[in-house]
Amino acid sequence: LTVPSWLEFVEKMQQIYDECHLIKDGETATYIPQLAQQDPNKWGLAICTVDGQRVSFGDAKLPFCFQAISKAFNYAILASEIGTDKVHSYVGQEPSGRFFNEICLDKNNKPHNPMVNSGAIVVTSLIKQESHVSDRFNYVLDQYKKLAAGEYVGFNNAVFLSERDVADRNCALAYLMKHCKCFPETTLSITDILDFYSQLCSLETNCESLSVMAATLANGGVCPLTSEKCVANRACRDVLSLMYSCGMYDYSGQFAFHVGLPAKSGVSGALMVVIPNLMGICMWSPPLDAMGNSVRGVEFCKKMVEKFKFHNYDTL
Ligand code: GLN
Repeated sequence: LTVPSWLEFVEKMQQIYDECHLIKDGETATYIPQLAQQDPNKWGLAICTVDGQRVSFGDAKLPFCFQAISKAFNYAILASEIGTDKVHSYVGQEPSGRFFNEICLDKNNKPHNPMVNSGAIVVTSLIKQESHVSDRFNYVLDQYKKLAAGEYVGFNNAVFLSERDVADRNCALAYLMKHCKCFPETTLSITDILDFYSQLCSLETNCESLSVMAATLANGGVCPLTSEKCVANRACRDVLSLMYSCGMYDYSGQFAFHVGLPAKSGVSGALMVVIPNLMGICMWSPPLDAMGNSVRGVEFCKKMVEKFKFHNYDTL
């Protein structure tokens, strides 16, 4: 048993969940029309420990899209496939200090890191480069399912179509990167790359399944429910490092300071937190703060580290 008293732990987490339910701040993302339709009252949370204990509260079975959370998994999948060094010949490791979809590159004319749109678009272009787009999509979907122990991973075509409709900024970013030779030489068309990127943002899951995926990262890349190796050791370490420094948009430094855990958020209001060697936590509540992070999700994390010594430097 990893958590000393599971029942006591569950009770306290439920309490924090209830407290956060009262928060009514934040705005649901509107720049992707389909996301604007999400119900702001939804609030779900699920936990899966590295030894497979599970608990969930509220809307933990309702589907939502990965959005930017896909960036973390796409990176982990690619780094497992071709190795971290190769990945980082295309993209850096530095927080950008800018909004996630800012049209800018670092001083080497490369994307700042794989967790902002620029870096994520390049990472997407590198996955299974020899394969047809259809096989690339299937490959990533299979990897996601493996990480989730075969639990729910689907595709929301309405969100994809909606996102593709408003992809002008990502398109501008992709052409800037093409100009700066950020993509591999033999690559898909910009349209195919952007479609693939948006399709992966439009994959959907729920809190319960995403907590299993997070637990797989907490467990060094081995899924705690199936014992299957999903992410290479080095890739697992590296994705957690990037989530720690860049996973919460322009709030990443503050989140690392206050909460001290690797995390990744998405504009659907989902938030995945990894407590290495202990558990994966997934939260979902659509209203976002000015940085684009789920208001309830961030508040939950802050309250959680007040109650439990989960901060990376709590145990010194
Ligand atoms: N699909 C979104 C975009 O590219 C993902 C962004 C997000 O969740 N931050 O704008």
